[in-house]
Amino acid sequence: MDKGKELLGLPTENPSVAWKIFKAFVLDDQISVTEDELVSYVIDDLKLNLNELPEGMYECGHLTVILLAYMNIWPGWNDIGDFLAGKLKKELYFERFQKFMLHKMSTLQGVYTSAMRGLDDQVAKSPLEFNRSNNKSDPEFCSHAISIQCPAAMLSTIVFSNVGDDVIMKQHLAKALQDLSTTQLLNWPHVEVTFQTEDICFVRRQATEFVRYLNFRVHESNESSQSIIEHVETRCSDGHQENCCYSYTFLEKYMEVYMEALTSTAKVSPSKLEEIQTILSQFLEDVRYIDVNNSIATNTVVLFRLSRLPFIRNKRLMWNNEAEADEPRVGYCEVMTPKIELELLYFRAEQKDTPVISFEHTDKIKASQSTSVILPEISYKCTYCRLEYSGQDSKKKMLDHLKNDHKMEQHVRCILCKKQFSVLNLAACRWRHRCCQSTSTAK
Ligand SMILES: [Zn+2]
Ligand SMILES: [Zn+2]
Repeated sequence: MDKGKELLGLPTENPSVAWKIFKAFVLDDQISVTEDELVSYVIDDLKLNLNELPEGMYECGHLTVILLAYMNIWPGWNDIGDFLAGKLKKELYFERFQKFMLHKMSTLQGVYTSAMRGLDDQVAKSPLEFNRSNNKSDPEFCSHAISIQCPAAMLSTIVFSNVGDDVIMKQHLAKALQDLSTTQLLNWPHVEVTFQTEDICFVRRQATEFVRYLNFRVHESNESSQSIIEHVETRCSDGHQENCCYSYTFLEKYMEVYMEALTSTAKVSPSKLEEIQTILSQFLEDVRYIDVNNSIATNTVVLFRLSRLPFIRNKRLMWNNEAEADEPRVGYCEVMTPKIELELLYFRAEQKDTPVISFEHTDKIKASQSTSVILPEISYKCTYCRLEYSGQDSKKKMLDHLKNDHKMEQHVRCILCKKQFSVLNLAACRWRHRCCQSTSTAK
């Protein structure tokens, strides 16, 4: 320690807070700093404007916690040995620390805002809920699941690996996303669709769970979930409609009459018809698949697994040098469980008292002269980027977003039969596959 004190020089009259803390870390000393001192570090040393920080960060006392957390995780602390051995210049070493802190604190905006938004979403949940399953990650394999926050295009390109004693993060090339069919789009991770007419409104959200972690061996677990329904939540009805149950048969009949009405006007383009038909079919399939008395209720959110078994990606960097192959190597694993959150907000179609089954809205469609009256409102949302697309070309806008800002999903492996599948094929058939080892588990 004396060696360190010598290297760090004599204490100056008014050392900056940053220097005080830096020195304490290097010397492994206990020091106490006040909140005011930490705030002055942010203003005077890092030259950040408190007014430009994300809303509430300073007021709620998060600023100092974040500041200390970043100080703690500076990778440069690994070089203390070199510094004490005189291999690193004091000024340069301190400058590196300051640069890291400046970078971390000045790029906080997005990270902090989305973290807080995540918390708000949690709080906004409705009062009544049961059968909540936790995001249960296998404790043996991933006691520390890692959370990745990055631009969407980076998501499927990241891989971690160890070089010597360090774990490094690397990016590899990923294919561009090609055009998706409507079914593929609706079953693609992070895609949400809202379908709304006078009669019916529902939201179908891809809520695929990703658990990411670093590992030394390949994930072999093959536990499957007994129930496909993970969570049911009744929303407070805000005057819309009380909770009502509708049978699959009635919904199917209604949608058939609705599609007939749209087709009969000859004003709706074939591609629009296909889009509407596919959205309705996926909704009906969901209702049948979750199999709750063959019906669905309004004001109820159902979270269910599209596949009982999770899929997995194990990613490792390839070495050219075979000599290194014997070392235990870190891999990066993603466990992916495709899930849907389905919510029927309202269904108000009432059958008219006529010999043929008809409804007020579908009759209106048949008689309508303007396409704007009869077309449903279909909006899409990227739940990862939190971007929403509405209007008549919403599907194209959503596809363009995926093509421009996301990358192709990489292949996944079924955790049970170990077969590899392309996400394109899985999304086309609601993530079903013929599982060779068990017919009962892959529904
Ligand atoms: Zn996106
Ligand atoms: Zn399988």
